[in-house]
Amino acid sequence: MTKPNSDGRALRPATTMVHGGTMRSQFGETSEALFLTQGFVYDTAEAAEARFKGEEPGFIYSRYANPTTRMFEERMMALEGAGDARATASGMAAVACVLQCAVKAGDHVVAARALFGSCLYIIETVLARAGVTATLVDGRDLDQWRAAVRPETKLFFMETPTNPTLEVIDVAAVAEIAHAAGAILVVDNVFATPMLQRPLALGADVVVYSATKHIDGQGRCLGGIVLSSEEWIAENLHDFFRHTGPSLSPFNAWTLLKGLETLPIRVKAQMESAGRIADHLAGSNKIARVIYPGRPDHPDAAIIAKQMQGGSTLVAFEVKGGKEAAFRFSNALEIVKISNNLGDAKSLITHPATTTHKNLTEEARARLGIDAGLLRLSTGLEDCDDLIEDIERALAAV
Ligand SMILES: *Cc1c(COP(=O)(O)O)cnc(C)c1O
Repeated sequence: MTKPNSDGRALRPATTMVHGGTMRSQFGETSEALFLTQGFVYDTAEAAEARFKGEEPGFIYSRYANPTTRMFEERMMALEGAGDARATASGMAAVACVLQCAVKAGDHVVAARALFGSCLYIIETVLARAGVTATLVDGRDLDQWRAAVRPETKLFFMETPTNPTLEVIDVAAVAEIAHAAGAILVVDNVFATPMLQRPLALGADVVVYSATKHIDGQGRCLGGIVLSSEEWIAENLHDFFRHTGPSLSPFNAWTLLKGLETLPIRVKAQMESAGRIADHLAGSNKIARVIYPGRPDHPDAAIIAKQMQGGSTLVAFEVKGGKEAAFRFSNALEIVKISNNLGDAKSLITHPATTTHKNLTEEARARLGIDAGLLRLSTGLEDCDDLIEDIERALAAV
């Protein structure tokens, strides 16, 4: 754990991201040690017995916990103000774990409709198979959350800002509705990153991340994490996690720990470039609309000001001329790469209608505002002037 200053003052996020959770071995290494081990040995049979009984602290098996993985969990806990956490092999493993351990047959879930495709699959298909029903709502309409509540409602689920249209949902208001209904609120905070939004502090009960995105930030490995109170993890996730094995590899945990050290400066730089690019696009007559959470013309600007510490590293925009124009724009880019990933040091562009959201019906896409001309740009760490010149080149080709 990060020790507070000797005068008891809490450390600021950037400091926590460098030092939080560090456990040094007897060698006093500067950089976090990589404990690439499956298991652990005990001095005596009595010690093994005591460890299994929980009478003596220590690691047992890396499916349960591992020192490097634990350092990653502790660093994230310190940043989020969470009581406990479990790191997972991917973001989807984190979401699947939470949704499966928190509800049972007969329960009901309410979720905001604008969801990552795989989250929608878990809610509509995996949970349905287990006898859990679900209602999808427009997450920005608080009346729809209220109206969806039933006596058996146990869990609310949302993603904010949403993918790909960067809508922002009022976390505190939805948390209040969930709690009044006796349900918990789970927030997928991937797009905001822990630097720009803290769902637990806003009233959410559980926060999940795909660490694959900004937390790694350099396109190397998959990972995820579930953060909540000590009680919630102990009562709901602890046994499920141990026995189903979604555990993060220590090697990937080590990579993600190093990613956290630079997360604050990366998010800041990427967000600044995204803001400049959004303003630039807004000035072009070839662009029908720009959606950027840092701009005053964002439809949810008031909520953003209330609950976020910044805009986004992503920009969504609609090119006039539909799919053909959007494809021309994408193909003319030389620096920005075409990819469905996000949060990377490399700028990436996605055409949601034909890739990440191709499985939705045309009607469902229309309801989410995913037009044929919509593109999602994940801003990287390149020099912003180069990115703007690249975008100029692409606009000229439309
Ligand atoms: C990428 C992503 C996930 C899934 O994460 P993986 O690490 O790819 O499994 C879940 N939610 C959101 C919002 C994402 O962007």
